[in-house]
Amino acid sequence: MFPAQPGALRVWSNRLIMERLIIIGSGPAGLTAAVYAARANLAPLLFAGYQYGGQLMLTTEVENYPGFPNGIMGPELMEQFRAQAERFGAKIENVDVTAVDFAQRPFRVWTDDIEYAADTVIVATGASARWLGIPGEERLRGQGVSSCATCDGAFFREKHIVVIGGGDSAMEEALFLTRFGSKVTVIHRRESLRASKIMADRALAHPKIAFIWNSTVEEVKGEYGVKSLVLKNLRSGESSELPADAMFVAIGHDPNTEIFRDYLELDAQGYIVSTDGVHTSIPGIFVAGDVYDIRYKQAITAAGMGCKASMDAERYLEELDSERSAGSLSAAARA
Ligand code: NAP
Repeated sequence: MFPAQPGALRVWSNRLIMERLIIIGSGPAGLTAAVYAARANLAPLLFAGYQYGGQLMLTTEVENYPGFPNGIMGPELMEQFRAQAERFGAKIENVDVTAVDFAQRPFRVWTDDIEYAADTVIVATGASARWLGIPGEERLRGQGVSSCATCDGAFFREKHIVVIGGGDSAMEEALFLTRFGSKVTVIHRRESLRASKIMADRALAHPKIAFIWNSTVEEVKGEYGVKSLVLKNLRSGESSELPADAMFVAIGHDPNTEIFRDYLELDAQGYIVSTDGVHTSIPGIFVAGDVYDIRYKQAITAAGMGCKASMDAERYLEELDSERSAGSLSAAARA
């Protein structure tokens, strides 16, 4: 679809669109960057992806985003972010970026059928749900195996639902799934939860939630839906089979950095390396949100990073403009 050689002439598409600022990603980081850049009259182009809105589209109630004392549903919060960015003139396209070339300037960004050139780019592609990688998991995805309780929980009314993981995501999923399931079992590989105290206490006290500790799931069984899970107790090494109707995996996330691998410095886990959480190894390419942030991973911190990236991108463009006009002035003086 796109040339393998960075810097090579692109001939597969005859459309090249020039932009000042492209933002890749539509979670809190990307959309906040878009609000700031649009208010600075930069008319940013934001690629939101076919599944726009980031991880909050897959979550339930957000209780810790300031300004919403009664909480707000994740998807509704993202709609508001988006409306705010569009109000100030951000152009938002619900398409995926398929490739980039940050070796040439202006930088190049490709969607399925269009090539874009941009003076500066903010990478805010976030992170995606991690899977266990066990037999049966992929085959039964969408048929009882899921990573999104808000999307799929309602299919399992009065059923036995299993949640994998011991962090905030797993507790959130488990608590939400109690609305549907007759019983929710959390399976965690250790004996204590990683989740914040408030979430852990809520889940531990919930009458519908049971815990299986020190255990992993080795296989998902079932032909057209989940029937049972093969468990391994990590202490005793013993295997057992747990009848279940659904398995929700909530074991963390991996950064979405595959298309940047040839251009940006990444750490061992694939996160974009930045000394200050804004600048990358390439001047003019900025980063924001979970694609960089392995530590905090909150909507509010992602939004803060989006703001910083946008303000620094604006400054970068100002410097670029003065360099360009100084260059054309000296060319005019030479003529
Ligand atoms: P997380 O905190 O990294 O927790 C991942 C959990 O999955 C851990 O308990 C981990 O076990 C387990 N795990 C990882 N790989 C596994 C594997 N291969 N097999 C079995 N278990 C595995 O991820 P998260 O829960 O998605 O949370 C990410 C961040 O978002 C955190 O900062 C969290 O506070 C935040 N968050 C906040 C809220 C909220 O405030 N409402 C909601 C969701 C997320 P170990 O504990 O043994 O490592």
